[in-house]
Amino acid sequence: MELGIANSGIIFDIKKFAIHDGPGIRTTIFFKGCPLICWWCHNPESQNFKPENFINPKNEDKHSENIEIIGKKVSVSDVFKEIEKEIIFYDQSGGGVSFSGGEPLSQPEFLLSLLKLCKNNEIHTVLDTSGYATEEILKQIQDYVDLFLYDLKFIDSTKHEKYTGVSNQQILKNLIWLSENGSKIIIRIPIIPGINDDNDELNKMRDFISGLNNIQGIDLLPFHKIGKNKYIKLNLLYKMENFNEPSSELMEKIKLKFEDTNVPVKIGG
Ligand code: SF4
Repeated sequence: MELGIANSGIIFDIKKFAIHDGPGIRTTIFFKGCPLICWWCHNPESQNFKPENFINPKNEDKHSENIEIIGKKVSVSDVFKEIEKEIIFYDQSGGGVSFSGGEPLSQPEFLLSLLKLCKNNEIHTVLDTSGYATEEILKQIQDYVDLFLYDLKFIDSTKHEKYTGVSNQQILKNLIWLSENGSKIIIRIPIIPGINDDNDELNKMRDFISGLNNIQGIDLLPFHKIGKNKYIKLNLLYKMENFNEPSSELMEKIKLKFEDTNVPVKIGG
């Protein structure tokens, strides 16, 4: 089915002067809603597709002003007005716009409408994605994305399903398709001790990446617990309490392994 043009979508944040979501200085648009529920997600407020309440744990009285609403419906034109304000910085720094989330591909018409406006105005575009979308959607979006930041969490599908709630079959298929069809891709791998840092899983990821084309880089993202407080505010169970953040020695060791792919590897986003 051909994607139409949307008038609006749901986002939970717009970050100006972002420097970790692609090259140069960027404006990052955070889409609300994700079909995955990764145990380690540090933006749990991005998962639910609808606006929701953040409750300050010090005062759970719902009538108090300690409730913050996360997420809002916004028009395509209002979001683009925000994007346009920073054009001078994109031009000076080689930056542009990044679409992140949540999962932007889960609001495909909203995403496509914004991507088209960016392309018409020669603004560089990055899509930060879990890759979980139908091939049909991906193919219609692809032409308008200059660089994909593509998450790779596991090759093992059973583990992927256990820790994210969905199978990775389509995700891996989409990644292969993009790599064979000219997209520029940076692979982003969260490193989570006790979950995906065993040699077997890391070797499988390394070998899988070695077989792809057009990979510009690999970012190894150390797991951290910074998002824990958000789980409390959303009244969600934080499953990562007993998992450790990776040491810098472990990150360096894993970096060496991925350097076998002959793709530039970096620790951090
Ligand atoms: S894919 Fe990203 S946004 Fe979605 S649940 Fe996983 S970590 Fe969170």
